[in-house]
Amino acid sequence: MTQISWVRDELLLACALVMENGWRELRQNDLRVLELSDLLRSLPLHGDAAVDQRFRSPNSVSRKTTDIATAHPGHVGPTTKGGRPTREIVSDFLAHPSEMLAAARALRDGIASGELHRIPVQPDEIDEDGGQGAREGRLLLRWALHRERNRGLRSRKIRQVQRLNLPIRCEVCTFDFGLTYGPLGADYIEVHHVTPLHTTDPRETRLEELALLCANCHRMCHRNYEGQSWRTPDAVREEMHSAASHAASRVS
Ligand SMILES: [Zn+2]
Ligand SMILES: [Zn+2]
Repeated sequence: MTQISWVRDELLLACALVMENGWRELRQNDLRVLELSDLLRSLPLHGDAAVDQRFRSPNSVSRKTTDIATAHPGHVGPTTKGGRPTREIVSDFLAHPSEMLAAARALRDGIASGELHRIPVQPDEIDEDGGQGAREGRLLLRWALHRERNRGLRSRKIRQVQRLNLPIRCEVCTFDFGLTYGPLGADYIEVHHVTPLHTTDPRETRLEELALLCANCHRMCHRNYEGQSWRTPDAVREEMHSAASHAASRVS
């Protein structure tokens, strides 16, 4: 079998387990390892790799927990070769423990309920470099993007804004599709969750959690940049303002 590299989602689940185990490795006959092996073998990420019994076997999962445990900066003794993604997930867990544990929980939950298996691959879950930059992994990003494409949710949000007599336009740059494209663009807008899926209940969305964005600003909210592929409209607006002031200072 050719080795299939561990992706972010898998490392997220394994690292949560190691962290909950006090940053110690887990043996291959440990029930939690057996359970994680089953879970990893069911993830809709590597095609039919699970046909091979050795794929993410309890033994390979146990070895990965050793890689993770020895990548912890507090570890003394010999380290194993976990590679850069393993070191990165450990430092993300150390820097953002509650966010990362919540993401692991949401991922487990989405897999266990079968929900994540029903969501088709989203065209923008892989960025233009082909990378999978989402801190929370690719499947949670897939879920989030899918949720934002829910047409019922979008029209409820648009109706709410219309009832308040507010224009249907981008909350970041004020772009108005109807003004620019006429009837073709009337009422066109995209919706974006102002809180990432893994910190909220993926099955419940309050309209207040949705922002209306033009296609450009929405893309910038999800572009993989500096280890993140999710940001708030406020964060994108700030980037815009600082870019504009840089441009202005170059001109003057
Ligand atoms: Zn915009
Ligand atoms: Zn979005």
